[in-house]
Formats: sequence, C-alpha cells, structure tokens
Amino acid sequence: MGRIFLVHLEGKIYSCKHCKAHLALGEEIISKAFHSRHGKAYLFNKVVNIMIGQKEDRMMMTGMHTVSDIFCVGCGSNVGWKYEAAYEKNQKYKEGKFILERFKVSGPDGSHYWVNNETHVGGSDGEA
Ligand SMILES: [Zn+2]
Repeated sequence: MGRIFLVHLEGKIYSCKHCKAHLALGEEIISKAFHSRHGKAYLFNKVVNIMIGQKEDRMMMTGMHTVSDIFCVGCGSNVGWKYEAAYEKNQKYKEGKFILERFKVSGPDGSHYWVNNETHVGGSDGEA
C-alpha cells in the first residue's frame, strides 16, 4: 500500500540512517577523503534509492562545481550530493559521481560514527 519499491543491495552496504534504505556498496567507494559541512563524506561511483534535487553552482574547497543535493527515496532526508559538473580540469573525475555524508548513513560495519566539530566555511569538498 503505497510502499516505495527500493533497490536491494548485497555486500558491504551503506544505508540511510533514518529508514535503512540501501544507498550504496562499499566497493563503489572512490574516495573517503571528502568533507561535508558536517564532517567526513565518501565519494561513490554509484548510489541507489535516491532522488536528485535541483542543480546549483557551489563553491567547494577544490573550486566551482555544479551539484545537486540527493535525497533518500525512503524518507526524503538529504544524504549528500551529486557532482553534475566540475570546472577545474583536474576535478572532472567527480562528474556524475555521488557524495554520501558519513554521519547520515550507516556503514557496513554497523559502527557508530561521531563527527568532530570542525567547521568548514561555505561549501564542502575534498581531495584538493
Ligand atoms: Zn531514508
């Protein structure tokens, strides 16, 4: 009854902290060296069960990017963003890839994750 069909993944799964919807697999991680305004973030090759928001230009640590926020289809919470376009040549590898904010997802080890209180001014990004 109005149940949303969710893609099920198998393996080392990163899932939504709120509704447990599967979002991505550990093997799809490209980099763990990213940062969001709230702490660590991982770059994924592929994520599932997300809705993509409006595109906007955002100034990141590594330059200007066009990004879209991504939302869990299960509960609508913002779980990260997608890189639509990068303006710096050496950042092009991020295009079409996804960031999941670590504190918004449950990892495959099921461990708790505490972000530090480091604040990043403005946008967020990593791997300069
Ligand atoms: Zn969710």
